[in-house]
Amino acid sequence: MKAPVLYIVIPCYNEEEVLPVTSGLFLKKLRQLIEAGKIADESRILFVNDGSRDRTWSIITGLNREDAHFQGIAQSRNRGHQNAVLAGLMEAMNRCDITISIDCDGQDDVNAMDEMVDAYLDGCDIVYGVRRSRDTDSFFKRATAQGYYRFLNRMGAEVVYNHADYRLMSSRALHEFAKFREVNLYLRGMVPLVGFKSCCVYYDRHERLAGESHYPLRKMLALAFDGITSLSVKPIRLITLCGLVICLLSFIGIIWAVATSLSGRAVAGWASTACLVCFVGGMQALFLGVIGEYIGKIYMEVKSRPRYIISDRTEEMAGHPQDAADKD
Ligand code: UDP
Ligand code: MG
Repeated sequence: MKAPVLYIVIPCYNEEEVLPVTSGLFLKKLRQLIEAGKIADESRILFVNDGSRDRTWSIITGLNREDAHFQGIAQSRNRGHQNAVLAGLMEAMNRCDITISIDCDGQDDVNAMDEMVDAYLDGCDIVYGVRRSRDTDSFFKRATAQGYYRFLNRMGAEVVYNHADYRLMSSRALHEFAKFREVNLYLRGMVPLVGFKSCCVYYDRHERLAGESHYPLRKMLALAFDGITSLSVKPIRLITLCGLVICLLSFIGIIWAVATSLSGRAVAGWASTACLVCFVGGMQALFLGVIGEYIGKIYMEVKSRPRYIISDRTEEMAGHPQDAADKD
């Protein structure tokens, strides 16, 4: 079998400090893989400049002049990490057999790539890079991340625990992934929806080699919120449930108000007001829930995700039905 062509997709936003350090590491790893015969020489390191305001792009073009294994694309403006990764993957999809997305700051261990490529050669279409431990994170980040993954899974989203965006995807998986046309991206939650054979590779996460994180708490919370709202309509279900409970309580409230009034312990006018408040409150909560259910359905519809993805076919079913028709 011919060695597969690998594209390493690397999003970069204002990374002039770290790029000169890590670009060498990436190239070294790529060369090692090529020399080991695991990947083809046409493999590339594809930087995606995410609208950086510093010298990032000129560094990328400089690297490209030095060595053709370095390639780059630039987004017209800053669109955020997730969009930058997607742009790189979509650009690479038709030029290669496999992609590996990785951050450019050296936090993710490039040595895990060997195992990832091996897993691909063993038949996996998606290989998740999973952090072995979170020692380098603060206690706060560790605890919140853990709680968040648990919460997400409970919300019905399928995410791989401790996996960020360091992953291998085959071109076949990417072509299916391209059919997910949603604009609110939470890649680590969307990729498992593609299916196919997948596995995990474990690695130790280091400190950033230079520069600063572009994910302050504000952006992290926004990503976390995006993750929940773009993968799950369960929050809406919870509203419906709340509506039902409030409706039930209101019903009990009404009975209580009537009973109090009949026993003569209430001031005139109180029972009717209390009944109205309970009734209107209960109904509103219930109606909101029902409308929410429809909004949830509309939400999933407008995403127009693929309704099925085929992974294998027997010989006769291979090829497109249209091709078969054309032959007649
Ligand atoms: N990044 C990007 N666009 C952004 C923010 C970040 O492309 O708007 C890139 C950044 O250059 C890095 C990766 O996303 O390669 C992860 O960012 P960072 O290391 O700052 O996040 P952290 O690892 O601290 O969560
Ligand atoms: Mg980082």
